[in-house]
Amino acid sequence: MRYSAWKIFWEGMTGNRGWKPVWREPEPKPEYDAIIVGGGGHGLATAYYLATVHGKTNIAVLEKGWIGSGNVGRNTTIIRSNYMLPGNEPFYELSMKLWEGLEQDFNYNAMVSQRGILNLFHSDPQRDAFVRRGNAMRLAGADSVLLDQDGIREMCPFLDFDNARFPIKGGLAQPRGGTVRHDAVAWGYARGADQRGVDIIQNCEVTGFQIENGVCTGVETSRGAIRAKKVAVCVAGSSGRVMAKAGMRLPIETHVLQAFVSEGLKPLIPGVITFGAGHFYVSQSDKGGLVFGGDIDGYNTYAQRGNLPVVEDVCEGGMAIMPMIGRARLLRMWGGVMDMSMDGSPFIDKTHIDGLYFNGGWCYGGFKATPASGWCYAHLLAKDEPHPVAAALRLDRFRRGAMIDEKGVGAQPNLH
Ligand SMILES: Cc1cc2nc3c(=O)[nH]c(=O)nc-3n(C[C@H](O)[C@H](O)[C@H](O)COP(=O)(O)OP(=O)(O)OC[C@H]3O[C@@H](n4cnc5c(N)ncnc54)[C@H](O)[C@@H]3O)c2cc1C
Repeated sequence: MRYSAWKIFWEGMTGNRGWKPVWREPEPKPEYDAIIVGGGGHGLATAYYLATVHGKTNIAVLEKGWIGSGNVGRNTTIIRSNYMLPGNEPFYELSMKLWEGLEQDFNYNAMVSQRGILNLFHSDPQRDAFVRRGNAMRLAGADSVLLDQDGIREMCPFLDFDNARFPIKGGLAQPRGGTVRHDAVAWGYARGADQRGVDIIQNCEVTGFQIENGVCTGVETSRGAIRAKKVAVCVAGSSGRVMAKAGMRLPIETHVLQAFVSEGLKPLIPGVITFGAGHFYVSQSDKGGLVFGGDIDGYNTYAQRGNLPVVEDVCEGGMAIMPMIGRARLLRMWGGVMDMSMDGSPFIDKTHIDGLYFNGGWCYGGFKATPASGWCYAHLLAKDEPHPVAAALRLDRFRRGAMIDEKGVGAQPNLH
């Protein structure tokens, strides 16, 4: 079933009886060429690109809940490629280019909205750091614009420029950044993969790995054992728990991150705005709600809910740059579990167990990475070698001293 304006018109005129389920609910087969563990954005994108780019369709995505129940459906929807280090920036720029063609590619409305992202700075040293970042972005083919205070005033006159503690001195903008309807990304990739023969199996938890003589030959699941030539784990906040079943200990901690939505307001915020002197980022949804977030709660947990002190902290960040946010009522909030790596950068790599692959460590920035993560993980699975733009995202980088420490804060998940 393809979507088109004509199809919507026709269904509207005929009682909407022609819509069909967007993907099948198949029973698991005894064996697949590859199993992807985790039906989040990254797992589904991997399956989609394995099928569309590499022609591999004897694949199952095993999801313990329903697809979209994890972080892909819980994030604050921001996409950007404003990274600085060579191990990161080309990867995120590939992701941005894939976002730009995604809806046409999988024929699904994911509401990709390139309204721009603006990172505010509040001091001269911070401006110097942003200039450096902007130049690095341009060298990698991304877009960046440095704005002074007048430029920001023109764009966002409602900000508190003269806050005595955090005066706004300017900002680094990426006009191609923006937001994407998060759960539609999961649905679009699922639909595209299913159409090409990939089995998406929901309510199927992987409970163990079959490992014989150092080779992974399949998985144990809540719906029985399934054999596979390759097993690709992609479970984001559950990375530590799942890889422990294969005897692996990862340089990853799991923390909770919360998101917040206010009541609907008239159009106010042009794109995404981030506070430079604390942790606060905000955009406005098409329904009018301010969608915002801040820092992780700061303790290890697998619970998908957060606590009140961080609500206060995030709202204080908002008040520091746009005091009128204090008049808006908070409508809803939720939490997701983040796979925080020790240098703030992710992994897409083989493991020391033949046939077992790992994708994780996305911290709280993995949504924007979804297309490139799927693209590069599919490449790794199909060709058994890393994709050039993901070549630095290796599991042994700490042993080699080759961390990708984008923020220069080392092994402090709370600061990434
Ligand atoms: C509140 C919040 C705000 C965020 N904001 C942003 C943002 O603005 N921009 C951005 O780029 N990123 C953001 N992120 C981060 C981003 O959402 C994640 O990094 C990214 O979604 C992780 O990849 P995923 O989509 O594959 O994860 P998930 O959707 O979590 O997928 C992993 C899946 O694995 C499944 N699973 C776990 N264990 C098993 C098992 N044993 N067997 C089978 N399946 C299993 C889970 O059920 C889950 O569905 C945010 C995250 C949160 C929580």
